[in-house]
Amino acid sequence: MDYDVKGNLKKVLDVLPQGVRLVAISKYHPNEYIMAAYEEGQRIFGESHEQELRQKVETLPDDIQWHFIGHLQTNKVKYIAPYISMIEAVDSLKLLREIDKQASKHERVIDVLLELHIAEEATKYGLTPDDCRQLLEDGTWRELKHVRICGLMMMASNVDDENQIRSEFGICKNLFVEFKSRYFSDCPYFCERSYGMSHDYPIALQEGSTMVRIGTTIFGPRVY
Ligand SMILES: *Cc1c(COP(=O)(O)O)cnc(C)c1O
Repeated sequence: MDYDVKGNLKKVLDVLPQGVRLVAISKYHPNEYIMAAYEEGQRIFGESHEQELRQKVETLPDDIQWHFIGHLQTNKVKYIAPYISMIEAVDSLKLLREIDKQASKHERVIDVLLELHIAEEATKYGLTPDDCRQLLEDGTWRELKHVRICGLMMMASNVDDENQIRSEFGICKNLFVEFKSRYFSDCPYFCERSYGMSHDYPIALQEGSTMVRIGTTIFGPRVY
């Protein structure tokens, strides 16, 4: 193994405040790396491609909680619905409905996060704050009994300017507070703010992240 996965993992876990969870982003990394983290007690792993995830699920321990972190096409939902622990990047009502439909077939309730697009990059997926507000205001989601909206997810702009990154996380935090009080005040499960990756998680932690998604810092660079 080229990377000291166990050592790197420990360093990350050491700086996480109480109550903040780590999603170890294992996409493009081999099972051997995942098992090294698993042996250290890590149980939440994140993947962004359905096929790669399926292969890993078939060969790795059953008690791993898999988070789907990538852009999910509606026609792929049926493949992950039987086992996925959380779908982090829901960016449309259409996708939310499909998750509900597939979850109901398996008599499950699937936890999801709504993905916000706050970053400046035009290529990033996600709902604008207004679209997200509209989706929640519309209320259709309340009828979907097989999905549970647990919070918000976002990626900050890929820039060096710490102030910009900080302010984008801050926007997400403020939206969380707004949505919590408007739509989820009696839902204790609406509690997650998933932001912070390898290059910006220290800032994310200062800005109220509850879930960091870290790959490269733990497993090294991805080989595509
Ligand atoms: C790949 C990925 C990450 C992890 O990125 P690193 O820079 O390797 O920590 C986090 N979130 C999402 C949505 C990703 O696709």
